[in-house]
Amino acid sequence: MLIGSDIVQGAGAAELLIDPKTAERFAEIPSATYEQVEAAIGAARAAFPAWSRTSPAERSLMLLKLADAIEAEGAALAGLEARNCGKPLHLVLRDEIPASVDCFRFFAGAARTLSGPVAGEYLAGHTSMIRRDPVGVVASIAPWNYPLMMAAWKLAPALAGGNCVVLKPSEQTPLSTLKLAEIIAGIFPPGVVNIIVGEGQSVGQQLIDDPRVDMISLTGDIVTGQKVLSAASKSIKRTHLELGGKAPVIVLGDADIDSVVEGLRTFGFYNAGQDCTAACRVYAADAVYDKLVAALSSAAASIVYGSEADDQNEMGPLISARQHSRVASFVARAASLSHIEVVTGGASANKGFFFQPTVIANALHSDEIVQREVFGPVISV
Ligand code: NAD
Repeated sequence: MLIGSDIVQGAGAAELLIDPKTAERFAEIPSATYEQVEAAIGAARAAFPAWSRTSPAERSLMLLKLADAIEAEGAALAGLEARNCGKPLHLVLRDEIPASVDCFRFFAGAARTLSGPVAGEYLAGHTSMIRRDPVGVVASIAPWNYPLMMAAWKLAPALAGGNCVVLKPSEQTPLSTLKLAEIIAGIFPPGVVNIIVGEGQSVGQQLIDDPRVDMISLTGDIVTGQKVLSAASKSIKRTHLELGGKAPVIVLGDADIDSVVEGLRTFGFYNAGQDCTAACRVYAADAVYDKLVAALSSAAASIVYGSEADDQNEMGPLISARQHSRVASFVARAASLSHIEVVTGGASANKGFFFQPTVIANALHSDEIVQREVFGPVISV
C-alpha cells in the first residue's frame, strides 16, 4: 500500500484472491488496519495545503509523467489485471492500458484549462468571479470490473483539480492498483495519493465516515451508494456516485440487422457483461424481431472464451463465485417465466466462474431481467 511516502504492507487480516478462471486461490493480500487507514487520511490532510497551491503546470507535468510511466509498465500492469480478473491479456493490453494512460493525459491538459466564468462588475465597485478551488481530501472507492481504469478515472480528475486522494480498490482486485502505488510514489509528493486495501464494510466504511474526508467518489452497487450518502450526510461531504446502468438498444423495423448484431456481440458481452454501459436490453420492432433473435443467438454462441490460446479469447469469466451465482439466479428466475425463452447459453461453462453468453427472448419490459442490472453476459430482447 502507499501511505504518505511509505510503501507498506497491510497489518490487518489477509484477503484471499481467487483466480476467476479456475476458482483457486492464488494470493493473499493483507488489509489495512484501523490505524493504517487513519494514517492514510492524515497523510492526505497534511499534504493538502501545499498540494492545493501547486500550479496547474506542476500538476499537469506530474500527471503526464504518470501517464508515461503507466505506458512503460503497460505489460506488467496488464499481466496483473489479467491474472486478477481473468480477463484475456490481449484485450487488457489493447483497450484498458491505453485508456488508463489517455485518462491521465486528458486530465493533465484539463488541469491547465480550468475556467472561471461570469467574471464582471455585478455590483458597482466590486468585481465578482467564479473560481474553481480544490475540495480537499477525496476518498475514492473502486469496484472490480476495470480496476486500473477505475483508479485512473478516480485519481486523474481529483489530482488535476488540486485534491489529495485516499484510494481503495476492490478487495477482490487490488493487484494493478498496488503496482500503480509504487509508480505514483516515485512521482507525486508524499501524501497526495494514498492507496490502501481492505473490505468495504471495514476499511471502506471507515474511510467514508471520517470527518477529515471532504468528498467520496464511489463506483459500485446501489446499496453501497446509499451507505455513502448516509455517511456523507453526517458531515456534509460531497459525493460522486456511479452505480451502474441498463443500456437500452432500440432496433427499428428498417435496421441493418447484421450491423446491429455485430454491435451487440461486442458491446453486450465485452468484459463478460460486467460493465455499467453493457448493451444488455434490446427492444426490437415486430418486423425484425425473429430475424434479430436468431442472428444474435448464433453470434453470441460464437463468442470464444476459455480457450488455451488466450489471444483467441474474446471474453473472460465472471469475477467471483458470488457474481456467478448472482448472474445464474437472474437467468434462472427469467427462465422460470412461461413467456420467456432462453435461446442460447443460460448455464455455467468450463471451470472457474465462466458463464455462457446468453440471449433471452420474449422478455417483457416489466420483467426483472429487463429492469435490473445483471452484470453478466446476458442480453434480453
Ligand atoms: P460494491 O458496491 O459492494 O463494491 C464496490 C466498492 O465499494 C468496493 O471497493 C467495496 O469494497 C466498496 N464498499 C462496499 N461496501 C462499502 C461500505 N459500506 N463503505 C465503503 N465502501 C464499501 O459492489 P460489488 O459487490 O463489487 O458489485 C455488486 C454490484 O454492483 C454488481 O453486481 C453491479 O451490479 C454493481 N457494480 C457496478 C459497477 C459499475 O461500473 N457501475 C461496477 C461494479 C459493480
